[in-house]
Amino acid sequence: MQGLDELRRQMEGCGSCDLCHDRTKVVFGEGATNPLVMVVGEAPGEDEDTQGIPFVGKAGEKLNSILEYVGVTREEIYITNSVLCRPPNNRNPRAEELEACKWRLDLQIQLLKPKLVILLGKIATQSMQEQPVKGALSQFFPENLKEQKDGWLRYSVGGHEAKVLITYHPSYHLRSPERAYRTTLPHWTRVKKWVESERQAI
Ligand code: URA
Repeated sequence: MQGLDELRRQMEGCGSCDLCHDRTKVVFGEGATNPLVMVVGEAPGEDEDTQGIPFVGKAGEKLNSILEYVGVTREEIYITNSVLCRPPNNRNPRAEELEACKWRLDLQIQLLKPKLVILLGKIATQSMQEQPVKGALSQFFPENLKEQKDGWLRYSVGGHEAKVLITYHPSYHLRSPERAYRTTLPHWTRVKKWVESERQAI
């Protein structure tokens, strides 16, 4: 199996979907090579496309403050997106673009072996699902992310099994701060407690 650096080099020349035509930089992902947590967003925006780094714009600032609440730094987790290239005018990635980038996301999970994968919003959730996510995320029940007795969803790829948490995208916090805070506080508090217990177990 190829390593992360090799995968990064390969993705820099990727032309497997139409998003390659308009990108400035491929935004591969960044963070620890043995992260406890991996965060998966939607797609690079303008700032990310220019800098080649995920979540550096306004949504990134929000994500940073959420991570601060959880008690983890960007350096100790890993952050990537459902697609690595910016869609024109920040439109949502199309199903075929998510599909074209899925093997890369799976391989990143396989190589980095995070214990917990956090899916930010509908697009990230969709990229891990066989079926499209219809309706509100809060009413969505994932088909292939199996919930286990401990109440966590699971995702398995290449012999690695990770817990999965689905929550709203940081841009929802920018649009509806109070509602987003109320809805997502239980999600992030759960992650915070889980991180604390994992650290104690080490
Ligand atoms: N920046 C990213 O890298 N991903 C998003 O989903 C949004 C902003």
